[in-house]
Amino acid sequence: MKNKIQTTNPYNNKVLEEYNLHSEKEVANCLEIATNCFNTWKHTAISKRTLLLNTLGDILNENKEKYSRLMTLEMGKPITQSRAEIEKCISLCDFYEANAEEFLADEMIETEAEESFISYDPLGTILAVMPWNYPFWQVLRFAIPTITAGNTALLKHASNVTGCAIAIQELFEKAGYPKGCFQTLLVNHETIESVIAHESVKAVSLTGSEKAGKSIAQTAGKYLKKCVLELGGNNACIILDDADLDKYMDTIVNARMQNTGQSCIAAKRFIVTEGIHNDFVKRFKSKIEALHYDNPINEATTIATLAREDLADDLQRQVDDAISKGAEVIIGNTRNKSYFEATLLTNANQEMAVFKEETFGPVAPIFKVRNLDEALELAGNSKFGLGTMLFSEDIETASKKVIDINDGAFFINELVKSDPRLPFGGTKTSGYGRELSQEGIREFINTKTVYIN
Ligand code: NAP
Repeated sequence: MKNKIQTTNPYNNKVLEEYNLHSEKEVANCLEIATNCFNTWKHTAISKRTLLLNTLGDILNENKEKYSRLMTLEMGKPITQSRAEIEKCISLCDFYEANAEEFLADEMIETEAEESFISYDPLGTILAVMPWNYPFWQVLRFAIPTITAGNTALLKHASNVTGCAIAIQELFEKAGYPKGCFQTLLVNHETIESVIAHESVKAVSLTGSEKAGKSIAQTAGKYLKKCVLELGGNNACIILDDADLDKYMDTIVNARMQNTGQSCIAAKRFIVTEGIHNDFVKRFKSKIEALHYDNPINEATTIATLAREDLADDLQRQVDDAISKGAEVIIGNTRNKSYFEATLLTNANQEMAVFKEETFGPVAPIFKVRNLDEALELAGNSKFGLGTMLFSEDIETASKKVIDINDGAFFINELVKSDPRLPFGGTKTSGYGRELSQEGIREFINTKTVYIN
């Protein structure tokens, strides 16, 4: 099976499809096509490039059911959440269609020269290495701005979502993008070094684990290629005594349980002040009881199996470790293959793996603290830096803490989420670089100074 990829449905372990990996010759061919395409694509007017986004959005919309089903079958996301993912991709097309021209326009700078300005030029072919948890969104949030900026893109997707990877290439082709603007490489990650080393590949973007990030950054460093890294997270969600739980409890639970807990920006450490602690635990438990576990293809399903059995093994180890160090299970902690029941733990502390490591599944540990300062100290005591959430009715005090949050995002009375209009990315071991917004479209750009005397 070394030269094949097999995809399976994580809900029932049924084999979905088998794919041949690309040979060395096929990969070389893709690289050549991407290089040739770049030489004409970079000269295509930006207005023409943004127009294609409109068609791309239409095709996503027309095929929403097909793509949603594919995601759900391959990685087990509840079908309603798959549809929401495709809708978010459409909003991404709309956003860059409306704004890319402005983001990439020459910027005049007054100097002693007759004329001087910044020209935002594309770099070349950019490689993306992507994870399975949001199989369409992660790829498109990289590809749409990167290609609209005049680059060409190559994708190495996570192997368990190979059907999605192929569907995304077809999506670009159907929308009328020139051959080679976007190509999927069916390769395992051991082949990635030779792709990064290729002279046409100018940069690499990885969304994935810390381990993959270190490996990609090392390879990119070896060949002096730029890289953007969107890695793991261990977001704190601080709940203060004055939080409005009637209003925000659904948001807070969703922050942990959406995508069955398999999100980098999920709330993973609930830091709760003592005055509201017991009420919060009670409400969290009843929200978990209301979750509906079933086959993810069913409309009523709100929580499903994890995408792979080893993810449940990891969660079990982390929960067992917490229990052995004094955590109490309020609900959950049953396991069957890749199913891991939504679990609420109280009496959690900093010595536990659920505090130190990312938990990639529906496990919510609660850390009781006395006040805001203690909460912020605990929240910041993490090697990750994707985002922090804070729920409180005292917005004035909360807003003053912006400077004390060393993460890529700080959300008050809202879950940390990505939005095409806002930059997205992390600090510390959560990576570097930004996606989305103006920042994202300028990541894979030659910011060229032009000086005319
Ligand atoms: P992963 O194991 O790191 O895989 C991500 C991608 O990297 C896959 O395409 C994988 O290919 C490839 N890969 C793995 N090891 C590699 C290596 N040594 N060298 C080169 N490529 C390598 O992560 P995952 O399990 O798919 O995704 C979950 C992780 O992604 C979590 O840590 C999550 O927090 C993070 N994530 C971060 C963001 C963000 O925006 N910050 C968003 C989503 C997910 P194969 O499938 O072939 O192994």
